[in-house]
Amino acid sequence: LSTAAALEEPITPPVKVSHTKLLINGQFVDSASGRTFPTLDPRTGEVIDHVAEGDAEDVHRAVGAARKAFDEGPWPRMTAYERSRILYRFADLIEKHNDEIAALETWDNGKPFVQAAQVEIPMIARLFRYYAGWVDKIHGLVVPADTAHHVQVLYEPIGVVGQIIPWNFPLLMFAWKVGPALACGNTIVLKTAEQTPLSALLVSKLQHEAGLPEGVLNVISGFGPTAGAALSSHMDVDKLAFTGSTETGKIVLGMAARSNLKPVTLELGGKSPMIIMDDADIDKAVDLAHFALFFNQGQCCCAGSRTFVHESIYDEFVEKAKAKAERRIVGDPFKTGVEQGPQIDEDQFNKILRFIKSGVDSGATLVCGGERIGNKGYYIKPTVFADVKDGMEIAKEEIFGPVQSILKFKDLDEVIQRANATPFGLAAGVFTKSLDVANTLARALRVGSVWINCFDVFDAAIPFGGYKMSGQGREKGIDSLKNYLQVKAVVTPLKNP
Ligand code: ADP
Repeated sequence: LSTAAALEEPITPPVKVSHTKLLINGQFVDSASGRTFPTLDPRTGEVIDHVAEGDAEDVHRAVGAARKAFDEGPWPRMTAYERSRILYRFADLIEKHNDEIAALETWDNGKPFVQAAQVEIPMIARLFRYYAGWVDKIHGLVVPADTAHHVQVLYEPIGVVGQIIPWNFPLLMFAWKVGPALACGNTIVLKTAEQTPLSALLVSKLQHEAGLPEGVLNVISGFGPTAGAALSSHMDVDKLAFTGSTETGKIVLGMAARSNLKPVTLELGGKSPMIIMDDADIDKAVDLAHFALFFNQGQCCCAGSRTFVHESIYDEFVEKAKAKAERRIVGDPFKTGVEQGPQIDEDQFNKILRFIKSGVDSGATLVCGGERIGNKGYYIKPTVFADVKDGMEIAKEEIFGPVQSILKFKDLDEVIQRANATPFGLAAGVFTKSLDVANTLARALRVGSVWINCFDVFDAAIPFGGYKMSGQGREKGIDSLKNYLQVKAVVTPLKNP
C-alpha cells in the first residue's frame, strides 16, 4: 500500500451519526440559543454533521441537573455494589458497540480505524471495569489520636464535577475523566472538544441502558471560551478537571480561583525527551523513537518530541529514522494498513507547517518530509529534522504533529541537564541495556512518567500526569480517585479511653 494509493477517494465511514444534541438530565436537547456548529471530516475538511452548540445557559442547566442528581438523586446514595454493577454494564455496552464507536471516532478525529477499534475503545471498556472494581473498595479509616478521641476519616464524593477534554483522544479522555468521577459517586457535566463532539454523545446514550440515573452524566458540545469558560467559572461546580494546552490550563485555573475556588486537576502539554544511549540496539531504538513521536499523527501530549541520541550512533540513527519515516503509510484512516491519518483540523495543520518552516529557518537539517500530502484534508508527510539545537523553537515548543526532532548528546550528565531544561515535565523515554543508566535516568528526570525501553504504555492502573507546567494531579490508577473525593474527619470523645 503506498501513500498515493491510500489517498485516492475517501472511504464511506461504516457508521451513521445518531446523536448531535446536548445531553442534559438524561435527554438529548437543542441548545438554548438553537445554534449549531459543524464538525468536520479531517480527511476532506467537509462537514460531517451539525451539532448543538452549548453555551453558558446550557451549562447552567446541565449543572442544575447534575446538582439535583447529586443532592436528591439515587446515585450517591446507592450501595457501592449497585454503582459498581452499573459501571460494569457500561463497559459491557461499550465493548458490544466497539466497532461502531471506533468508526465514529475515526471519522471525527482522523485516527486509524484499527487503532481506535483494537486499542483505544477496548482500553476504554477496560478502564471502566478497573474503576467499577474500585467502587466498593473506597472506604475510610480509623486513625489514632493523642487524646481520648475516636477519630474516623470518611471519604465522600466531592459533588458536581466539571470536566473539559481535548480532541486528540476524545473517548479515552472521556473515560479517564468520567470513570473515576463516577466510581466515587459524583455527578458530572463534561464538555467535549469542539473538533470531536460525536463519539462521547454516542457512548453517553449507552449510559442509560447501563442504568445510570438521569442527570448523573451530562454532555455539552461547544467551544472553550463560551461553554468551557461557563463550566470553569460556575459557582455550583465543586471540582474541575481539564486536559488541554498549558495556555488554556492557566486560564481555567484562574477562572476556578476567581469563582468559587473549586479544586482543579490539569493535564497539559509536554516536550518529552526520548533518550537513546550508545549501548542501544539501533534498529529497535529507531522503531521505538518513531512510535513515541508519530503515534496518533504526533498529536499526543506526551509525544517523545525531543529525540536525544548519543553522538557515537547519531549518524546511523538519523539515516535509519529517515528510512523509517519514509516507509510510514499515510492515508485514509479507514483503509487497512494505514498508519497515519490526517491532522485534526486546518488550524493544527497550518501550525505544524509553520513549525516545520521555523525548523528550516533556524538551521536544523530537514531530513525528510516537510510538506502536505495531496490537496485535500490535513495530511502531512512524516517529517524528520536532524542537527536540532536546544534553543530552536522546534526543540522548545509543542508541535503536536508528525515532526521528529533529533538532537545529539555526549554524556549522561549533559543529557539529564538538557532533558530537564524545559518548563514541561510530562514524560520521558529511555532506551538502554544498562540497568544503572536506566535507574539513574528514571530518578533524575523531572517527569510524571518514565518509560524504560518502551513508550506510551497506558494501563488503567498506571497513574499519568505532569511535573512542572505539564499539570497538577494524576489521572488513572488509585491516584485519580483522590481527585474526586472529599475527606471528612469525624471526632468523638471516648468515655473510657
Ligand atoms: P487545543 O489548542 O489543543 O485545542 P485547548 O486547550 O485549547 O487545546 O482545548 C482543550 C479543551 O479546552 C477543549 O475542550 C476546548 O474547547 C477547551 N477550551 C479552550 N479554551 C477554553 C477556555 N478559555 N475556557 C475553558 N475551556 C477552554
